[in-house]
Amino acid sequence: MLGTTGLDLTVFEREGPIQGKPIVISTWNFGYDANKKAWSVLSSGGRALDAVEQGVMVAESDLNNTSVGRGGNPDRDGIVTLDACIMNEKGEAGSVAAIENIEHPISVARMVMEKTPHVMLAGDGAKQFALENGFEAIDLLTEKSKANYKEWLKTSKYKPIINIENHDTIGMLAIDARGNLSGACTTSGLAFKIHGRVGDSPIIGAGLYVDNQYGAAVCTGIGELVMKNLSSFLAVEEMRHKKSPQKACETAIKRIIEKIPDVSNAQVGILAINKKGEVGAYAIREGFTYAVHTNEIEKVFGAKFKMPTEHSGK
Ligand code: ASP
Repeated sequence: MLGTTGLDLTVFEREGPIQGKPIVISTWNFGYDANKKAWSVLSSGGRALDAVEQGVMVAESDLNNTSVGRGGNPDRDGIVTLDACIMNEKGEAGSVAAIENIEHPISVARMVMEKTPHVMLAGDGAKQFALENGFEAIDLLTEKSKANYKEWLKTSKYKPIINIENHDTIGMLAIDARGNLSGACTTSGLAFKIHGRVGDSPIIGAGLYVDNQYGAAVCTGIGELVMKNLSSFLAVEEMRHKKSPQKACETAIKRIIEKIPDVSNAQVGILAINKKGEVGAYAIREGFTYAVHTNEIEKVFGAKFKMPTEHSGK
């Protein structure tokens, strides 16, 4: 497939260990373009925190991306609500949940982290905070997402459909030239969800976790499974216990499969990186891809997985 930059994004099976410093990795094919932006920050000596914020903003502004930011599919009431979180090298965290009308929830999450004593703001309060701090209120619906909603209404029976499509978060992890780690995660969540539903993406330890001493992890997929297992925190704990990022990701996915009896129809993908810049990726089923950018590598890879499937994610 071709990225928006026109480059060939053919998905490569991972051949050997992936490692680099500085490095940025992110979820799904759309991570490729987002990584480019993050890399421009990292390669000019910038901070990992700035790289991940600016990187995921590319996906938040991409009107063709129907699962992140502006242009994201709405909930079952036709309202777009966004979730995002960010963590820096000091272990500080900020998050917004179910925020409406703001194009860059990741930047609001950063502001919550840097300008308030809190970690998470939700709903109207999060929007009010954003507006008070100079963010502009906009309509997040696009012609495309309106059309998707209209189409969904035909068969929806007004019930949210939990499946392996209609979502896909951008999660991004980076190590800068100083060796510091940061991460960001942003999404419109499950398409046509119940109004007010919040997924794993803004939950620290579920959608994202960063420990500058050991490593970082980020998740995508059915948030309900990730929230019940704190998968990002678990993967970082595994790295703290000297497991490789690959083994850490496998443990986190296998824990979901062990604890949740029926994962048919469900996809979760996880990415991890350790302090050395080694990368791991694993998913419940086939189809999870991730993008890597280092001095030597600029590619999208297919993650290893537990179960083959006839449905593939993006
Ligand atoms: N994890 C997101 C959520 O549950 C969706 C996704 O990444 O596919 O909201």
